[in-house]
Amino acid sequence: MSSSSSIDQPNVITCKAMVAWEAGKDLVMEEVEVSPPQPLEIRVKVICTSLCRTDITAWESQAIFPRIFGHEASGIVESVGEGVTEFVKGDHVLTVFTGECKTCKHCESKKSNMCQVLGLERRGVMHSDQGTRFSVKGKPVYHYCAVSSFSEYTVVHSGCAVKVSPQAPLEKICLLSCGVAAGLGAAWNVADISEGSIVVIFGLGTVGLAVAQGAKLRGASQIIGVDINPEKYEKAKCFGVTDFLNPNEYNEPIQQVIKRISGGGTDYSFECIGNTGMVTTALQSCCDGWGLTVTLGVPKTNPEIASHYSAFLSGKTLKGSLFGGWKPKSDLPSLVNKYMNRVRFSITSC
Ligand code: NAD
Ligand code: ZN
Repeated sequence: MSSSSSIDQPNVITCKAMVAWEAGKDLVMEEVEVSPPQPLEIRVKVICTSLCRTDITAWESQAIFPRIFGHEASGIVESVGEGVTEFVKGDHVLTVFTGECKTCKHCESKKSNMCQVLGLERRGVMHSDQGTRFSVKGKPVYHYCAVSSFSEYTVVHSGCAVKVSPQAPLEKICLLSCGVAAGLGAAWNVADISEGSIVVIFGLGTVGLAVAQGAKLRGASQIIGVDINPEKYEKAKCFGVTDFLNPNEYNEPIQQVIKRISGGGTDYSFECIGNTGMVTTALQSCCDGWGLTVTLGVPKTNPEIASHYSAFLSGKTLKGSLFGGWKPKSDLPSLVNKYMNRVRFSITSC
């Protein structure tokens, strides 16, 4: 990294970043210029970043390039823009792909985390001026979800970062900035799983395993995990999955198997793959009367969902969930504290 900054006036930083030049083509390590933070923005030295399936989906299917992906990250504030009062240089932060302005209708409502000012940014630019803060040899490089953490330094809106305790290990809590929080929140906030219930989870990646942890901590009696990768079973047991189903091993639709082993359908179904066909299967797997399906996956293709209307007439509900319903600034610090206070999200046997 090189910078010509004076003490109070942050300047352009040149550092390394993984740049995606074309859809589905290998990322290239480039020297990028990172602008100083603009008003209400902060520049963050990225300490840890992880790969979420949503990064891959967007890299494969979207058209905004060149671009720096990455939206699940932890880091340290390097400099702050004009008007920032919440952060100072050296603060530890989690970046978030959906922010919290605290003043819009949704931020003021207890029912929503869909901030209308700093919500999911889809055009590859910063919320404030629709510009970018990255360039390679003078050519602008687009952002992803207004986070772009596959870079040594990034600029985010101060409403899209959450201050965390400097004692919290950044390499661990990084996962709370997307996948693990999304899964736990879907189980706790969106479904509000009750003790003794039966749960089925489609897809046992980071998100699905976090749903399993959340279900286990709520006292679910049976947690059925569905995945086409048989290697997921051993790992899933550690997260509370009691029954593992690989649809490729059955000659009948997997929803029939689920209905049989759950005594007529599950109380809760979660789609954690990003396949809208599986949303239909998830709906068919939950029980009449009160069965709730929560869909978290982000589909690459076929965004429409199909269902026979009788599913809803018979009392089933379908709900969507972004970031587990958490309001990032209001809620993430307490999740970090839970982790720090050893209310482990992982099940102790593994
Ligand atoms: P992942 O790729 O780590 O896990 C997906 C799992 O699904 C894998 O274990 C894979 O083997 C399994 N799978 C794939 N196709 C399957 C099929 N046909 N049947 C059964 N299993 C199948 O993904 P992840 O990072 O855990 O993310 C899961 C989904 O959630 C993605 O679509 C991602 O974009 C989305 N996501 C949503 C939010 C949110 O807030 N809603 C947050 C993060 C990720
Ligand atoms: Zn808002």
